[in-house]
Amino acid sequence: MYMESIEKLSALVEDMALEVTDQSLCLPKVKLLPRLDQHREARVSINNDQWRLPISYVSAGPGGPMPLLKTALTTVCENDCRYCSFSCQRDSPRQTFTPDELASVFMAVYEKKYVKGLFLSSGITGGGVRTQDKIIATAEILRFRYRFQGYIHMKIMPGAEKAQVFRAMQLADRVSINLEAPTALALVEIAPSKPVLNQLDQRLYWVNQIRDSMHPYQGWKGRWPSSSTQFVVGSGETANDRDFIKLTQHLHQQRQLRRVYFSGFNPIQGTPFAERPKQEPLRVLRLYQSAYLLRDYGYVADELSWQSDCSLDIHKDPKVSSAERLFLHQPLEINQADYEQLIRIPGIGPKTARVILSERKHHLIGDSSSLKKLGVNTNRAIPFLLLNGKKADRQLQFSFY
Ligand code: SF4
Repeated sequence: MYMESIEKLSALVEDMALEVTDQSLCLPKVKLLPRLDQHREARVSINNDQWRLPISYVSAGPGGPMPLLKTALTTVCENDCRYCSFSCQRDSPRQTFTPDELASVFMAVYEKKYVKGLFLSSGITGGGVRTQDKIIATAEILRFRYRFQGYIHMKIMPGAEKAQVFRAMQLADRVSINLEAPTALALVEIAPSKPVLNQLDQRLYWVNQIRDSMHPYQGWKGRWPSSSTQFVVGSGETANDRDFIKLTQHLHQQRQLRRVYFSGFNPIQGTPFAERPKQEPLRVLRLYQSAYLLRDYGYVADELSWQSDCSLDIHKDPKVSSAERLFLHQPLEINQADYEQLIRIPGIGPKTARVILSERKHHLIGDSSSLKKLGVNTNRAIPFLLLNGKKADRQLQFSFY
């Protein structure tokens, strides 16, 4: 029985890689992009046999990437999302675990120290409520029978009830519900059998409402889980970058989401979208960079530079595009700018902006070498600044990344 379960887990490797929540391995290496999660398969040795297991490395804190067993209770699904490897229209082998079986095989892998936590998802069978019950039952077995104290990322199913969302939040370290598309029209195009967008968003609303209104002692380890969502980028034709970023802004401001994942579309054989082109990774990168400007720098979507078709310029860092529009012809005086203005200059982040404000109390900043000593990336910043009323050396290189 145990080896059968390991075999089924191993058979999930391809499907879970296709269902990847984050594709940093495909993205160009850019210094300023925060750490992203990575899906990899891992080869492990169990009972003297080598197995491939679906493992995702997530950035879950200061301890470095954490390996999670990335699983689904079942890869059977009654829905026909056009891009998804689990779609009911796809003719492919399927795997199904009972909650007991999945909890027990996870513990076996965990005890061998191959993973530190669990990413728990599922295809939908018998509706969202029934599927959510099985996901919750798996987590309950782990927490109460096996006394598992580690990290669980639990998916909230479309159609899940509020009481189930609450129970999931009592068991998990992170909960997520995939919105998939940023507008109702775009969702119908790529996932016609999923509930409408605002019903999906309602579950994120409940998560936030529970966090805001109920004492965290009712949550796992006395705190509520963080929440996240995922969009599929480039599978449909109706959603533009501005739609993605506008909804991302709403999710950060109104739903307190920790993370919004952008998953570049990758065509899967046997699905209705098999012939559509793969999404260009640079677009995904620019969406991530823009989302971080909203979340970590306080930008609003309207501050970014939009092309006439509401797309981002894929060849340029969105912070640079925005700074070119705002400051290239009206440079910012470094000795007078406030914090909010400073962090909008490429090459200056929140930490460096605070150092500049502190330094300015004692000295005027008059040349680029002083700026460099304060931690500013002068190649990026100089074109947008006046240093004590003067433009600095124009010969410095201007880097778009
Ligand atoms: S509901 Fe989820 S698992 Fe099912 S086809 Fe859609 S995206 Fe895939």
